[in-house]
Amino acid sequence: MCGRPIDNAAVAICGGTIIAVGKWNEVRASNPGEVTDLGELVLMPGLINAHCHLDYTCMRGSIQPPQSFTAWVREINEEKSALRSEDYITSVAEGFVEALSFGTTTVCNLEAFAALIGQMPLPPMRMWWFAEMLDVRHAIEPEEIYSQIKAVSPIRGGIGLAPHAPFTASIELYRAAAAVAQRHRLPLTTHLAESREEMQMFRDGEGALFEFLRSIGRSMSDCGQSTPLQLLLNAGVLDERWIVAHLNELTSEDFLRLESSPRFHVAHCPRSHAYFAHERFSLRQLRRLGSTSASGLTASPVTRTSAC
Ligand SMILES: [Zn+2]
Repeated sequence: MCGRPIDNAAVAICGGTIIAVGKWNEVRASNPGEVTDLGELVLMPGLINAHCHLDYTCMRGSIQPPQSFTAWVREINEEKSALRSEDYITSVAEGFVEALSFGTTTVCNLEAFAALIGQMPLPPMRMWWFAEMLDVRHAIEPEEIYSQIKAVSPIRGGIGLAPHAPFTASIELYRAAAAVAQRHRLPLTTHLAESREEMQMFRDGEGALFEFLRSIGRSMSDCGQSTPLQLLLNAGVLDERWIVAHLNELTSEDFLRLESSPRFHVAHCPRSHAYFAHERFSLRQLRRLGSTSASGLTASPVTRTSAC
């Protein structure tokens, strides 16, 4: 949206298409059709939720703000182990209703269970299903995931791929997902530089997240070298197909790299940010990159985030 709100405004619609927007008397002068008076309210374009996990709508309030990001990862994994497929389908359906009640008309939803997408109820809004992928425990083939979800042809919206985060998805998985996305013209999304513990893990090779992931058998050979952002930039996977969620932990060197990096989109998640009490989000700095550099970023505000 741009421009100032229009007081006493009207919208002219013909055959389901908006053909004029402006002051009531001006729009009415050239559009003599039937009038519906909506009364005193704000009429605006639908909101876009650029990042959410409707799978976890049912978990609201079940995990109190944790001491650390790693503690939260452990807790949500425990909560998830008690849920069945039917619970996730119900949860997503409840998420549809709630998102619509906020005025959200498009949702980018990271779906942890790609096989369930075909069983979900018909979304009442534009729905982009991003199949979330992790290979920290088992290898995963993005082309197979694509084959699994390609039959899902939402009436509105579409499908995409989501390597979860660099600490749960290998660089090889990121590269494979990017190649599949290029081949089939799909959007991609991921979590990046979300927590201080993620920064500690990749830059310093230490910290609670590092220790936790090492304990479950993750290869830590990519740690102690670079920031999370630079890990993905060095791998050459990010481009304009990507919506990158978070970017809460960025160093001054990261900002320098962003000045000449390929263009991609950034989704800030304010509720998740507040829940984890992260440091202040660098919205202005990221916006400045977007407005002053041809290779800049687009900061996409979100309406709501069910989980991070
Ligand atoms: Zn998320």
